[in-house]
Amino acid sequence: MNRLAKTFFIAAAGFAAVAGAADYDVIVAGGGPAGIGAGYMSAKRGAKTLVLEKSGRLGGMGVSAMVSPFSMATSSDIVRGIAKRIGFGRSVDFHLADVRAYDLLREAGADVMLHADVLGPVMDGNRVTGVRVHCIEGERKISAKVVIDATGNGIVAAAAGVPYEEGRKGDGLVQPMSIMFTVGGFDPAKRFICVSEEHARSKHCIVNGRKWEDIVQDEIKAGNLPPEVGVIRLYPGHTKGLNVVNATQVNGLYGSRSADLTKAEIAARKQAAQIVDVMRRHLPGYANAHIAEMPAVVGVRETRRFEGVDRLTTEDVLSGRKCEDAVARRCSFVIDIHNPAGAGQADGHDKAVTGGARRVKPYDIPYGALVPKKVDGLLFCGRCLSATHEALASCRVMGPAMATGVGAGAAAADAVKKGIEVRAVDAKNLHLFDK
Ligand SMILES: Cc1cc2nc3c(=O)[nH]c(=O)nc-3n(C[C@H](O)[C@H](O)[C@H](O)COP(=O)(O)OP(=O)(O)OC[C@H]3O[C@@H](n4cnc5c(N)ncnc54)[C@H](O)[C@@H]3O)c2cc1C
Repeated sequence: MNRLAKTFFIAAAGFAAVAGAADYDVIVAGGGPAGIGAGYMSAKRGAKTLVLEKSGRLGGMGVSAMVSPFSMATSSDIVRGIAKRIGFGRSVDFHLADVRAYDLLREAGADVMLHADVLGPVMDGNRVTGVRVHCIEGERKISAKVVIDATGNGIVAAAAGVPYEEGRKGDGLVQPMSIMFTVGGFDPAKRFICVSEEHARSKHCIVNGRKWEDIVQDEIKAGNLPPEVGVIRLYPGHTKGLNVVNATQVNGLYGSRSADLTKAEIAARKQAAQIVDVMRRHLPGYANAHIAEMPAVVGVRETRRFEGVDRLTTEDVLSGRKCEDAVARRCSFVIDIHNPAGAGQADGHDKAVTGGARRVKPYDIPYGALVPKKVDGLLFCGRCLSATHEALASCRVMGPAMATGVGAGAAAADAVKKGIEVRAVDAKNLHLFDK
């Protein structure tokens, strides 16, 4: 019996975890960009590591929701190396990135269990001592010295009682959910590209003598598209002859609620069919275009943002905060708030400058934004870290998300090695940015 199967057997047989004899040093819940970074770094730094992923595929939104491109938007050789190895680049190779990520994690020494739905933490007072996980065999408890919550939604942190916020100030609305999909069946010589709202309204995005944005707006007025579909973006796909389409948008629903997720899945997939119909009627060479691939799950941009000992604020990203305890450096993605209550970007942004999204000054993400204030044995990373709604709108993209995972993994391994709390880790000495 291999080590992983044995651990599950022991847990299934009901052996209680005792202090100092945990099943694993580090458990990473969630195998998206942040979880891959965390699992890789924790194992690489010598901790006995287990990555638990609820779906059948690693890669998170990049694979299961077919999100592309991978926005590096941070300065890290480690992240660049992981992304290159697994095929996260200008387009995401969502056909094989998950398999490569599995090999990467295994080579680093981590165990990986797919179809392993983490239900919540095992707690001893204020300390997380493991997780409860549902696998095909039933429910298991697996103990660990440190648990890293990389579920995007903070499944472990929320159940552990870490306070969190959801949505923007005022009305509490979150960024919309979207289905990204690919289209094929068009004339490859006439492949049409529209990368942004700014591009759609520019002289570089003309279709039959008209701006692409104006054509889409006319279709909305005619009732052929819902008003939330402000712009239809078509990116070059990873596979020749396909476009990745980023256009659907469902407002007013929360990715942290099952009923809302259900509505979003159905509504966004119906929009995809309407969008392809518009392409067929307007884009030269697209008369026979069709949906080529649909993602397994709807794309979720934002759910819970947890309270950490430090927090990435709106001011931090606008002023270019630098931190001694940085886990991500020189993060540069715009404050990309897809309007939670309408089409396009949220109000109040520099539309004239960047086509709807406010620019940031390259900023650092502090380690403290991954450390919960009161709960021990736990870190969070990726899109559920401690940040304001606006700051998250910048650092949620896959490069910085992976960088926070790398930081969490290194910190967890350091804490285990030294026998200290994760909150006592000196992040200045994690050597995340050495050549
Ligand atoms: C429509 C859309 C467009 C985007 N465009 C871009 C873009 O152009 N460039 C870019 O870089 N980023 C983009 N993003 C953002 C980016 O995809 C995410 O913010 C990023 O993937 C966050 O990484 P993560 O690892 O924190 O979370 P996720 O990618 O959400 O990964 C979380 C993982 O945890 C797993 N999980 C969840 N719950 C459990 C559980 N209970 N037990 C076990 N596993 C669990 C999930 O299955 C998933 O694999 C976009 C996002 C969306 C939705």
